[in-house]
Amino acid sequence: MMQNYDYDLFAIGAGSGGVRACRMAAATGARVAVAEERYLGGTCVNVGCIPKKLFVYAAHFAEDFEDAAGFGWTVGGPKFNWAHLIANKNKEISRLNGIYGRLLKNAGVDVFDGHAEFEGAHTIKIGKKTYTAENILVATGGWPFVPDIPGKEHAITSNEAFYLDDMPRRVIVVGGGYIAVEFAGIFNGLGAEVTQVYRGPLFLRGFDEDVRGFLANEMRKKGLDLQFDTDIVGIEKVADGLRAVFKDGREHKADCIMYATGRKPLTADIGLETVGIVLADNGAIKVDDYFQTSAANIYAIGDVIDRIALTPVAIAEGMALVKTLFSGTPTKLNYADVPSAVFSQPSIGSVGLTEAEARKKYNSVNIYKSKFGALKHTLSGNDEKTFMKLIVDRASDRVVGVHMVGPDAGEIIQGIAVAVKCGATKEQFDATIGVHPSAAEEFVTMREPFTEPVPDSTQAAVE
Ligand SMILES: Cc1cc2nc3c(=O)[nH]c(=O)nc-3n(C[C@H](O)[C@H](O)[C@H](O)COP(=O)(O)OP(=O)(O)OC[C@H]3O[C@@H](n4cnc5c(N)ncnc54)[C@H](O)[C@@H]3O)c2cc1C
Repeated sequence: MMQNYDYDLFAIGAGSGGVRACRMAAATGARVAVAEERYLGGTCVNVGCIPKKLFVYAAHFAEDFEDAAGFGWTVGGPKFNWAHLIANKNKEISRLNGIYGRLLKNAGVDVFDGHAEFEGAHTIKIGKKTYTAENILVATGGWPFVPDIPGKEHAITSNEAFYLDDMPRRVIVVGGGYIAVEFAGIFNGLGAEVTQVYRGPLFLRGFDEDVRGFLANEMRKKGLDLQFDTDIVGIEKVADGLRAVFKDGREHKADCIMYATGRKPLTADIGLETVGIVLADNGAIKVDDYFQTSAANIYAIGDVIDRIALTPVAIAEGMALVKTLFSGTPTKLNYADVPSAVFSQPSIGSVGLTEAEARKKYNSVNIYKSKFGALKHTLSGNDEKTFMKLIVDRASDRVVGVHMVGPDAGEIIQGIAVAVKCGATKEQFDATIGVHPSAAEEFVTMREPFTEPVPDSTQAAVE
């Protein structure tokens, strides 16, 4: 006998993955509901990608004002107002929250405010009410994590950084991932004295070695104090701010210490144990290729499964799941060649393998590199450099990795990612006519495999 459930799909969490899965499922005619305890749109919209990128724009103006002088502009003593930025950012986020609410409503999805937890494999409890569903989707995302050190209560995470009352003048950012790197650049651009502390030898583990070193150098040129191979062992509140004590005994004062040392899947207090859902060692929900958990009718997607913690990936996982559940097409997600950007200053764009990964996977690879000063900086006088790298499997001539550090790297890499996903060869890159004058054209004009240190050149000189 068919059970009668209130819904065909009930999602916990209206973030990037949950919202897309609900909308797509409702479009197939399924009866869908979602519970959200904090904010519609989840991390990305409220305390992630969107406000972060707005902050990056804000921070970059500092350099833009300076660059303008070489083009004949006189910009008189620019001033920055933190409260104004926060107010405008908050306004935009409220607008987006409204849009998400309307998108769900117009799709016919029931939205419940509040904390949802499992009461049974088919039953969700929100406050005193319960709802039943044939399928349940856990899309609860992740939460930042501050290590257990004395004084950790004085530290903030990215969540709070978006809502600080005042702009801190001295900032320590702890961590070596992309969020730490981005915030170090944001605070530096906005005029703070910034120290970034990372316990490893170089930040951005997992990115191409050349990219990591190149960015570190560019960030130092912009005045950032990067402290690698060290860590903070304690934080104290003192009369003029906070004092961080490093593991070698050194001390450093700051007004704000922000930890971006990782995010953990948000799995506590949802009653996962009630329904016997198995977690991996890192706390992520274990799922199979079709996002099914250890409970047959319960699925999970997005940061809570900790595969690739990016918004477009959570969205793609949600769409794959809906195809499997409601369109009769069991669908896996292909995680190869997911492009990504780091909105550092200068920014990174990356797709495919790093050089180290490519050397492990293929017998022989050709590496193409280019380093140049962008045309704009011939007049601005800014000594920022751009770096590009292509990694090619010699046997097949396929371009298996593309990396860039420089302005608009995230925008440029999106187009390149299509070519890489389609399996483009180096010959096809070479046969593509460049867009001139642009930095991006360099990707189709690199002819000689790299053999020795990349010479410095300006783009004008390269032409
Ligand atoms: C500072 C920062 C910058 C980032 N920048 C980028 C970027 O530039 N590009 C990019 O692609 N990604 C970026 N990300 C990552 C991106 O935000 C996440 O990968 C994405 O939001 C994951 O989506 P999700 O649906 O898995 O979870 P989330 O978007 O986190 O949504 C989960 C939702 O579930 C809700 N929830 C949790 N538990 C319950 C419960 N029990 N009941 C009801 N509701 C619940 C939460 O309140 C939340 O709204 C960034 C993240 C951070 C923190």
